[in-house]
Amino acid sequence: MDKFFGPLHVLKDINLEVPRGQVVVVLGPSGSGKSTLCRTINRLEPINSGVIAIDGKDLPAEGKALAGLRADVGMVFQQFNLFAHKTILENVTLGPLKVRRTEKAEAEQRARQLLERVGIANQADKYPAQLSGGQQQRAAIARALAMKPKVMLFDEPTSALDPEMVQEVLDTMTDLAKEGMTMLVVTHEMGFARKAADRVIFMADGEVVEDSTPEDFFKAPKSDRARDFLGKIL
Ligand code: ATP
Ligand code: MG
Repeated sequence: MDKFFGPLHVLKDINLEVPRGQVVVVLGPSGSGKSTLCRTINRLEPINSGVIAIDGKDLPAEGKALAGLRADVGMVFQQFNLFAHKTILENVTLGPLKVRRTEKAEAEQRARQLLERVGIANQADKYPAQLSGGQQQRAAIARALAMKPKVMLFDEPTSALDPEMVQEVLDTMTDLAKEGMTMLVVTHEMGFARKAADRVIFMADGEVVEDSTPEDFFKAPKSDRARDFLGKIL
């Protein structure tokens, strides 16, 4: 798969297959293409060549089929992107009601279960601004899960959080990983990468430079670029 922004070749011949249940952590310097990779996977960004398949189905670039298939890909961003004028419960039920056409009572029941699971059941009737950053991010995770996605993409989900709130979000993500969710996680949290990842992908200049286990990657990175990167962040 290739992706250009005008003349800029931002994703170069990316060939990635993620088996069901695998947790992949994506590392790499700023500008290496990590966010663009996430955004192409659920077609927030079009690609210039290649295919993107979820569960064996090629993701169409537009139309009704896209909405349905995009619902299979949950995404959590650095900025939580919750709807400010809706309560937490409404944020979580919106997708199932509109896209999945779930009945209201059922959607609400499931939303409450998900909020319980991410540890904020008592915040259901509040508005986003009334929650801490960590709570808002956990609400965003619950909202993505409400669509029963097959894959969850996380793009630096803890980067905008105050330090004391990072761990609660990482714990929620670790639980999800343990439950068998297929996950692609862009993060600078090396503790999470070591503990929760099955696989580490290191990107530089739009290319996958290393693809290995966390053990191998952290112990013995193969490329100079990865060694240089690790030297700066560890
Ligand atoms: P960071 O760690 O800073 O988040 P990243 O690895 O996520 O970086 P991307 O945001 O994917 O990097 O950007 C990859 C390259 O594509 C960069 O050179 C960036 O400037 C460029 N780019 C990203 N979005 C656009 C856009 N909408 N239009 C033009 N160029 C873009
Ligand atoms: Mg990014």
